[in-house]
Amino acid sequence: MQDKLGRKLTDLRISVTDRCNFRCRYCMPEELYGEAYEFLKRDQVLSFEEIVRLTKIFIKLGINKVRLTGGEPLVRKNIEELISSISRLDKNIDLAMTTNGYLLDKFANILFSSGLRRLTISLDSLDNDIFQKMSGKKFSVEDILKGISSAKEAGFKNIKINSVIKKGVNDKGIIDLVDYCKQEGHILRFIEYMDVGTLNSWNRKSVVDSKEITEIISEKYSIHPIKKNYSSEVADRYQFDDGEGELGFISSVSNPFCMSCTRSRITADGKFVTCLFSNKGLDLKRYLRSKATDEDILNLISDNWLVRDDQYSLDRSLGKDKVKDKIEMFQLGG
Ligand code: SAM
Ligand code: SF4
Ligand code: SF4
Repeated sequence: MQDKLGRKLTDLRISVTDRCNFRCRYCMPEELYGEAYEFLKRDQVLSFEEIVRLTKIFIKLGINKVRLTGGEPLVRKNIEELISSISRLDKNIDLAMTTNGYLLDKFANILFSSGLRRLTISLDSLDNDIFQKMSGKKFSVEDILKGISSAKEAGFKNIKINSVIKKGVNDKGIIDLVDYCKQEGHILRFIEYMDVGTLNSWNRKSVVDSKEITEIISEKYSIHPIKKNYSSEVADRYQFDDGEGELGFISSVSNPFCMSCTRSRITADGKFVTCLFSNKGLDLKRYLRSKATDEDILNLISDNWLVRDDQYSLDRSLGKDKVKDKIEMFQLGG
């Protein structure tokens, strides 16, 4: 099944909650998501049964990757039950999770024993003050590092660490992150700061382009590009010349990859969204809670994918981006 621009649907990213224990400035600025902010109510969020039903339908449609995300997926109660159910659906599905890592120390073992095999942990700085400033909370970097070690001990291999670099905020800490990941055997991936949502006051000048980051790294380490694992992989991969360690660069701003974008997303309240910068989605929850059969829902999803022509990042780079009221990142799941 290919969209209007010839792109297949192979990835499903599921936001399991809109709640989060962090308040990262680039995602959920604290002044906007304080005590008074009303998150989705329990019955507005998809149940595990609904998520599993949808995942089965997406598998029929040909996806081979599922990523659980949020908000913060580890604040969703009994998330391990969802992992077990999805991992039992099809052994060929590559099931992954993106987490801020704060609760990982507590959950690493149960996540692994429930069938999760791939983990991406977001960590923007090893400097405690900068980390706290960026995550909007008084948690300590040590807690995240402890969570990452617990994941390694639990059996997770090829752990990925995602870092968003903002100019003048955490760019001085790039080498520290590289040193740490190289030493620990984690794959460090730099994500260019994006204009997702509408509330993070994004400014092109705050973006540190991947090229600039590779130049900073090259002052200390010799690195060289390597082949992508598969054609729609979003990160450009690099290896250290000494053969120890891997880096990735996700250059959605400086070098958009819309033409190979095979990703779809489901928001915590059950909307099917075909681009990270969309302002709307197809309300699947309405159908899941009606008399619609699996086949009806499958047809709705496929009709939606067939007319997809999203290419927001490419348009942005050409000065043609138009979408205004974009869905926020914590609702979409990144
Ligand atoms: N809470 C989890 C976490 O932070 O890993 C999962 C959800 S979070 C929305 C997924 C990813 O989106 C994180 O790696 C985060 O750094 C990234 N992200 C959020 N806002 C971003 C932005 N404006 N630009 C680039 N990446 C962003
Ligand atoms: Fe929470 Fe992740 Fe957004 Fe940070 S990036 S506020 S951890 S959802
Ligand atoms: Fe895919 Fe939309 Fe991102 Fe382009 S902007 S890569 S279409 S999610």
